[in-house]
Amino acid sequence: MKEIYYEDKYAKEIETTACVTAQDEGRAHLKFKENIFYPQGGGQKGDRGKVILNEKAYNIVNTVKDPQLGGSLSIVDEKFSKEFDSVKVKCFLDWPFRYAQMQLHTVVHAHHCVIEEVMGTKVAPPKVSSIEDRFAFNKYAVESFDYEKLGRINEEFRNWLKAGAQVRTYAEEGTNFRWWECAGHKIPCGGLHVDNLNEVGGIDITFSNKKGDITVKFVLTT
Ligand SMILES: [Zn+2]
Repeated sequence: MKEIYYEDKYAKEIETTACVTAQDEGRAHLKFKENIFYPQGGGQKGDRGKVILNEKAYNIVNTVKDPQLGGSLSIVDEKFSKEFDSVKVKCFLDWPFRYAQMQLHTVVHAHHCVIEEVMGTKVAPPKVSSIEDRFAFNKYAVESFDYEKLGRINEEFRNWLKAGAQVRTYAEEGTNFRWWECAGHKIPCGGLHVDNLNEVGGIDITFSNKKGDITVKFVLTT
């Protein structure tokens, strides 16, 4: 089994072989020999898509980490009439969904870096950083940063997106521990991101202050 989304996160389809590892509650769990579907984790949603098996298309509704065998498991929204082993399949990633996840995952990190630059100091990572379907949010303790500076943070963030900057993601040598790096900032993350800030496109940013938490919400608009 080979997880290829790190070495080629722009891979949208692949021909490979699959086996069914389990079937429960009307869902089959598939394992691919070469896998392009990212499993849910680090605030990022598991990939969706389609798998063609014996000329029939099945919907992949989620991809999760496989607790037994390691790697990824893709969940299909129906049971198979029998279990398969090493059957040829064609996989198609739901690319608009994944690309939005990559854009937003980049946004939650880059915005945090801008907060640190505008504040001129290190800021504790968000208490919650979550990526949903076409929107994402970072939640901070209210004392983390100055509410008055939010307007300036926003403006500076838009400048960053407009100017663009290379995003590098890599595993620390000899380990599986991964880093996200951009504009001199490093954040530990095993998720998937776009290669440059200028790939983010249009984004709407709002702040709310409730019960001692500041939530920064990002909505993709293009
Ligand atoms: Zn990340």
